[in-house]
Amino acid sequence: ADWVSAHGGTGDRLVVLAGPTAVGKGTVAEYIRRHHPDVRLSVSATTRQPRPGEVEGESYFFVDDAEFDRMVEAGELLEWATVHNASRYGTPRKAVEEAIAAGNSVLLEIDIQGARSVRRAAPEATLVFLLPPSWDELVRRLVGRGTESPAEQQRRLETAKVELAAVEEFDHQVVNHDVAEAAQEVVDLMRSRKGRR
Ligand code: 5GP
Repeated sequence: ADWVSAHGGTGDRLVVLAGPTAVGKGTVAEYIRRHHPDVRLSVSATTRQPRPGEVEGESYFFVDDAEFDRMVEAGELLEWATVHNASRYGTPRKAVEEAIAAGNSVLLEIDIQGARSVRRAAPEATLVFLLPPSWDELVRRLVGRGTESPAEQQRRLETAKVELAAVEEFDHQVVNHDVAEAAQEVVDLMRSRKGRR
């Protein structure tokens, strides 16, 4: 069923932040979570293991494969995708719907496949693409964070090349020169939406 008609045309309150791997989406989203507590940020479910410092229910809802299957079957996810051929990630529908029903805009920090799914479900959603200052900078960030093996880094860079081409499908572009500035741009875009908080 079409998400928008089912929700009284409030799909424009959905704001998606996507972009290639290692561009810093997670960092920008985390910055918004800390510095703009009024912004409703969707917390995704994922089958990947928590990293040190990640908090259940804040960073993600960490679930096993069986639970993720159950959520998919029960229609509890607004969108979901397998990211980097590894773990599954999805946006819990209920929290988003409740925030929108209460008159808020909601920010979804998800991958590009997820952004496309949201676009299909809610054509008037606002899609924001986070760009790296340059290709070299993207490579530096991916290698520099040291969370992936060299083979995995290579794989993600191949993915990033393909992902960068998706920028044309997005409504807005934000260049991540500086986390605080990029976060502010995203928040300003959210506040300029119709039906904002
Ligand atoms: P990480 O494992 O580094 O936290 O996230 C890996 C990727 O999964 C990032 O590109 C992030 O945007 C994406 N992601 C996180 N949550 C979701 C979600 O709910 N749906 C989709 N489609 N992608 C997500």
